[in-house]
Amino acid sequence: MIYDEDFELLELSEDQVEQLIYDLVGTTLNLDQYLESTFDVPSVDYLSEDTLEDIDRTIFLCESCGWWCYDEDRSENGYEDICDECAEDEE
Ligand SMILES: [Zn+2]
Repeated sequence: MIYDEDFELLELSEDQVEQLIYDLVGTTLNLDQYLESTFDVPSVDYLSEDTLEDIDRTIFLCESCGWWCYDEDRSENGYEDICDECAEDEE
């Protein structure tokens, strides 16, 4: 998809961000696909920075198992975004 400079970045409301987080956590959904089917936004590139920050602060995609997890379950290993469960498996 070609980025259209005139396209206004979408700022999701708090409720929408909450909904997104609720829908994603515990799944392996592709964020772009979710955004397209739920908010009719073709990809994360169309979300405002504030919205992305809100999402980023709360959840992350584990690079090891590919599941969306709450930020508090992020492992402290420091070099990759993986969840506590995956970090335990690696030890
Ligand atoms: Zn994981």
